[in-house]
Amino acid sequence: MDATIARAADIILSAKHVIALTGAGISTESGIPDFRSRGGLWERYDPSEYATIDAFHERPGKVWEMLFDMVGLTRSARPNPGHAALAELEKMELLKCIITQNVDNLHQEAGSVNVIEYHGNVSRLECLSCGTVYEDREFDVAEIIKSRVPPVCGKCKVMLKPTVIFFGEMIPQEATVRSQEAARNADVVMVIGTSATVYPAAGIPLIAKQNNAVIIEFNIEETGLTNYATDIFVRGKTGTTLPDLVNMIKQ
Ligand SMILES: [Zn+2]
Repeated sequence: MDATIARAADIILSAKHVIALTGAGISTESGIPDFRSRGGLWERYDPSEYATIDAFHERPGKVWEMLFDMVGLTRSARPNPGHAALAELEKMELLKCIITQNVDNLHQEAGSVNVIEYHGNVSRLECLSCGTVYEDREFDVAEIIKSRVPPVCGKCKVMLKPTVIFFGEMIPQEATVRSQEAARNADVVMVIGTSATVYPAAGIPLIAKQNNAVIIEFNIEETGLTNYATDIFVRGKTGTTLPDLVNMIKQ
């Protein structure tokens, strides 16, 4: 394992444009189970009933039953050493950006600055009526979860929606454009805590690979990507392997 991480460290140190693609796996060590896994959010709430944009338009109060749990789960979580290691790589100017499929805001809380969000962010809320966007620090989030009273727009008095992308909503175009550009410029892609099989995330390693980028995968188990596109597979919990990588780079 040390030899694999040492190889990854050497490649990152000699690269010019390293990017990271992250998924649910990096946040499980912060106590957020993959929504799609056993014990995940979609086991308790059928997403076709609770997580479509049509459902929010028709019955926002019902959708908020699920959102209290999603917000509670993500906003009580703290970044783990894997998030911190990526923030440190960016500070060392070795990582250009993170493209994330997570909505939990943990990369930003760990100190990462250049984060492209495919699926939005639970810590920002929007009014679908007037378009005003609110940061959740403008609200007493703990009280919202405890009282189970949804936050409302100060102007329109309608229930706000976290800027999380619901089923039936488009991936934000800016995120798609920026991430594809990052993938075209990349000479190394770190694929972290994701099988990268769902588009548009799945396209990122493939676009980069076409330009001869090196794909370094950090996952607990091999994925659909491993035999197909991965050059270096670093097995293990990312809360351990990523700090190990950063320590190796510093040596
Ligand atoms: Zn409004």
